[in-house]
Amino acid sequence: MKQRTARTVRRSTTRVLVAILFAGLTACMTNPATGERQFSLISMDQEIQMGSQADLQIAQSMGIYPDDRLQAYVSELGTTMAATTEWPELPWTFRVVDDDTVNAFALPGGFVYVTRGILSHFNSEAQLAGVLGHEIAHITARHGATRLTRMQMTQLGVGLAMVLEPRFQRIAPLAGAGMQLLFLSFSRSDEQEADELGVRYMAGMGYDPEALISVMETLRRVSEAGGQGRLPEWLATHPHPENRQDDIRGHAAALEPQEYVSDRREEYLRRIDGIVYGPDPREGYMLGGSFHHPTLRFVLEFPLGWTVINQKQAVIALSEERDASVQLTISEETSIDAAARNLYDTEGVDGVGITRVRINGLPAGVGAFSVPTEQGLIEGSAAFIEYDGRIFQLIGYSAASTWEAYRRQVTPSLESFRPLTDRRALAVEPMRLDVTRVARATSLRALYDSYYNGTTPAVSIEQIALINQLEPDSRLAAGTLVKMVHGSPPR
Ligand SMILES: [Zn+2]
Repeated sequence: MKQRTARTVRRSTTRVLVAILFAGLTACMTNPATGERQFSLISMDQEIQMGSQADLQIAQSMGIYPDDRLQAYVSELGTTMAATTEWPELPWTFRVVDDDTVNAFALPGGFVYVTRGILSHFNSEAQLAGVLGHEIAHITARHGATRLTRMQMTQLGVGLAMVLEPRFQRIAPLAGAGMQLLFLSFSRSDEQEADELGVRYMAGMGYDPEALISVMETLRRVSEAGGQGRLPEWLATHPHPENRQDDIRGHAAALEPQEYVSDRREEYLRRIDGIVYGPDPREGYMLGGSFHHPTLRFVLEFPLGWTVINQKQAVIALSEERDASVQLTISEETSIDAAARNLYDTEGVDGVGITRVRINGLPAGVGAFSVPTEQGLIEGSAAFIEYDGRIFQLIGYSAASTWEAYRRQVTPSLESFRPLTDRRALAVEPMRLDVTRVARATSLRALYDSYYNGTTPAVSIEQIALINQLEPDSRLAAGTLVKMVHGSPPR
């Protein structure tokens, strides 16, 4: 969870609708037929406006990586390339999002995103250019204007979640925070066209399209290493990987013969030296069953065995059966009473209001509530806690039929909120990429062993090989730049 930076109070008058969606993934999709009809009718201005709105929500839900120089670098490369396309007049925007997944995506209207996770897997500027070219192509070919779908919850690593409609979201914002689920998912012909155009764009800038093929190979390895049950993010937004490497070679061969410039490997590696690698524990991490948040300085216990999802605007725990949830958010209000009113004034929400108490010494208000939904009555408990100049709101709920049992797990969780005082936890640092130059010829494995000599390696040799697009026993010439990872996860 991230410190709130923008006030986004919603005052919708739509009636509260709480939908509990079970493992059937299609259930949580927008009706694609309706969506497609709507989006195919939109004008260019509407497309830009739609992209701008989604861009704000992406910034809020995923976060923009806080490194101005890296942002400027990616933005300049992207903008220069976009100016060579069929649609140079779009207000092109390129952003590095603060997310450790390996992904890149585009929104209608000229918005292109790469995660810091994918940046740490590239090994040259040419590779970055290849992916930017592909994303730019989805926009110039207007693929997004005809195909905007909601991605599945598996993106979060959970098979199911509760989705709450707008009025309830300011209290329990899973669906709102889940804006990151709103990605474009393209058809096979869209992907082929984006590859063809993207190859032309990158080659036009002087980069050898072979670089895009090595990216495809890395993405394949990332998917494999991700293991079962984990949806590879890039494949989710860019499906149909079949034969793409051959196709890209074909597109490249069809271009006018040309001399390609350097892939700018060293320049690129220098740019990403020191970027955050893996999850950033400063924005929350689980340790020994407790959720720690060093930036907001609190600790919270979630019920044992529940799945905890840490999003920028909310921390959400789901029961093993995925039929109960505890959600933590920061209220936009400045008092316990005002925050509580937000809940109880919501249309359809029933309850007598809060009782003032102290939770681990902190001023708080607790109360019960119920909400009728199409799936039946929801019952829950709420706690509003004043701490460090903010109102933290905790909501636990399930269907009325199971609430009595879940209440016994949820109440202790709500009452466990307390200040984080452990100095080590407060001072936690993320892992970072460390680009080092090989002094004399060696193997990656030997370099790895000497780099982590006497310490517990933060990442495996296989992981280091993957991000360097090498094998563990690859030979390294003297003078080669290699990415290592320093730091370690909280323990
Ligand atoms: Zn694509």
